[in-house]
Amino acid sequence: MSKDISRRSFLKGAAASVASVAAMGLVGAPVLASAEEAWDVETEVLVVGAGGTGVCAAAEAAGAGAKVLVLEKAGLIGGSTNLSGGVMQAAGTKYQKEFTKYQDDTPENHAAVWIKEGEGLVDEELVKDLANGAPDHIDWLADTCGIKWTSIYGHCHIPYVEDEIMADRIHVYENGGASGGGVIYVQAVWKVCQERGVEILMNTEATKLIQDENGVVVGVVAVQDGKECRIKATKGVILCTASVDQNRELAKRLNPQMYYDLDNGVCLSVSTDTGDGIRMGMEIGADVAGFGGCIDFCGKTGFGTDNRTPNFPSFIVNQQGLRFVCEDTTYAYHYRAIYQQSVALDGHTYMIFGTSSVTSSEAVASGYAPWPDVETADAEVEAGTLFKGETIEELAEAIGVPAANLKLQLDLWNSNAEAGEDPQFGRKTGIEPITGPFYAYQNVAYNLGALGGLRINTNAEVLDVNGNVIPHLYAGGLNAGGWIGPYYPGSGTALIGTVHWGRKAGAAAAAN
Ligand SMILES: Cc1cc2nc3c(=O)[nH]c(=O)nc-3n(C[C@H](O)[C@H](O)[C@H](O)COP(=O)(O)OP(=O)(O)OC[C@H]3O[C@@H](n4cnc5c(N)ncnc54)[C@H](O)[C@@H]3O)c2cc1C
Repeated sequence: MSKDISRRSFLKGAAASVASVAAMGLVGAPVLASAEEAWDVETEVLVVGAGGTGVCAAAEAAGAGAKVLVLEKAGLIGGSTNLSGGVMQAAGTKYQKEFTKYQDDTPENHAAVWIKEGEGLVDEELVKDLANGAPDHIDWLADTCGIKWTSIYGHCHIPYVEDEIMADRIHVYENGGASGGGVIYVQAVWKVCQERGVEILMNTEATKLIQDENGVVVGVVAVQDGKECRIKATKGVILCTASVDQNRELAKRLNPQMYYDLDNGVCLSVSTDTGDGIRMGMEIGADVAGFGGCIDFCGKTGFGTDNRTPNFPSFIVNQQGLRFVCEDTTYAYHYRAIYQQSVALDGHTYMIFGTSSVTSSEAVASGYAPWPDVETADAEVEAGTLFKGETIEELAEAIGVPAANLKLQLDLWNSNAEAGEDPQFGRKTGIEPITGPFYAYQNVAYNLGALGGLRINTNAEVLDVNGNVIPHLYAGGLNAGGWIGPYYPGSGTALIGTVHWGRKAGAAAAAN
C-alpha cells in the first residue's frame, strides 16, 4: 500500500536537519524556513494524515494536477475512518429519492437541522457549505471512486428540532454500516489517489509546521525512524490528523467531555489521533473552533443510532434516582446529558429496566433488545455487569440512589406509560410500563472521537486568532472545527465532513 519515496534523500538530509533545528533553539516553537537549510523531500501539496480526510484531499489535489505527498504516522492508512461504519449524511441525492419517501428534501433543510443542533455555536457558513456540497460528494464517491450506495436511514429525534425538517439522510454503501465498513471508503478513494500518482510516506509523523519570513506555510518537519527531516510543500500543507481524541493533556485544555471520557469511557479512535495537527496549528497562531463535545453513544444498547430501531422500555436516572433526558433522542444528544449529570452529581447514571422490558413485544419485534431474555440479563448480573433488585427499593440500594426518588420516578413512568405518553421528556418509543424484578445498567460512553479543531473558512483555509488566513495552511475533517456544534448531530455527519473538507482543501491548495 505504501511507497517509501525519496527515502534515500530523506535519510541523507535528516541528520543535518536535527542539528540545525536544535542549534537554532527552535524546538517547541514554529520553525522559520531558511534558504540555507536543505529540504529533504519536495512536493507541491503535502497532506498530513491518511484517514478519510487525507485521502480525499490527496485525490482532489492530484486530480487538479498537483504533485501530492501524504505523510502517515501509522503503518496503515485509514485512521479512525477505517473503524467507522462508513455511513454519510446528504440531502436531496438521487439515492434519497430512490430509497426513501423523502422526495423533496433539500440541503437547506439539512443545514437547518445541523444549525439547530449547533445551538448557536456553529459557524453557519461552514454548515451550509457542507450541506450544499454533500450531494455532490455522494455522486463523486459513486462515479469516481466506485462506491455502491444501497440504503438510507435517519437519525433519531432531538426535542427542539421540528419533525418537518428531519428526514432519512444517512447513506449506507454495500458492505458498510457496521464497524469496520469505513475501510471500503478509504480504499476506494485511495485507489483513485494511486491512479493519480499520489505518493505516501508511512510511519512518518509531521511534528512542526515551517513558515517563511512572510508567514506562508512552506513545509513541515517530520520524523521517520527516529530521524527528523524537512519536507517542502510549494502549494500548501493540509492538516488531516483528526481531533484531540487520544491526547489527555490537549483534551483537558480544550474538550472537557473528551477528557472525562478518556478516564471514564471507552475511546475507540486510533491511538495515533493525538491532535498533532491542532497543536501544530496553534503553535503558529491558528485559532480553534467547535471544541467541547464528543461522538458518544451506548455501545451496549446502540440506542439512538438508527431511527428504525425503537428503544426498549427503560429510562435513565442520575445519582438522585431521577430522569433528566429524553432517552430515544439521537445518541450524542442524550450522552451529553449523561456526561453533564455524571460530572454535576459526581457519580454514575443508570439505565433502569424490568423483566417486562426484556420480554416486551416491542423489544422483541425490533430484534435489537440489548438483553433479549431474562437468562441473558441474569447471567450479566452474575458477571457483575448488571445490577438486579426484586423490588425497586432493592435495586436503588444496589446502585446507591435514593429509594424514594427511584420509586417515585418508576411510578410516574408507569402511570404515563399506561397512557402511552412521556410528558416528562417527550420520548417517542418504548413507552411501556416496567415491572420487576428490576435491572440497572451503568451507562458508559463509547467515544468515537472529540469534536473541535482548527478554525477554517469555506475554502478549508486555517484562520489565525484575528480571523486572517494563514497562507498555504489548510485543515479538514475532524482536524477542523466550527462545522459541528456542542454535540454530534447524528451518524454520517463526520464522514461527509471528511469528504467535503478534504476535497475542498485539496482543490484550494492545488490552485495556489
Ligand atoms: C468505531 C467508529 C465508528 C464510526 N462510525 C462512523 C460512521 O459510520 N459515520 C460517520 O460519519 N462517522 C463515524 N465515526 C466517526 C468518524 O469515523 C471519524 O470522525 C472520522 O473518520 C475522522 O476522520 P479524519 O480523517 O478526521 O481522521 P482519521 O480517519 O482518524 O485520520 C487521521 C489520520 O492522521 C494520522 N496522523 C495523526 N497525527 C499525524 C501526524 N502527526 N503525522 C502524520 N499522520 C498523522 C493518523 O494516524 C490517522 O491515520 C466513527 C468513529 C469510530 C471510531
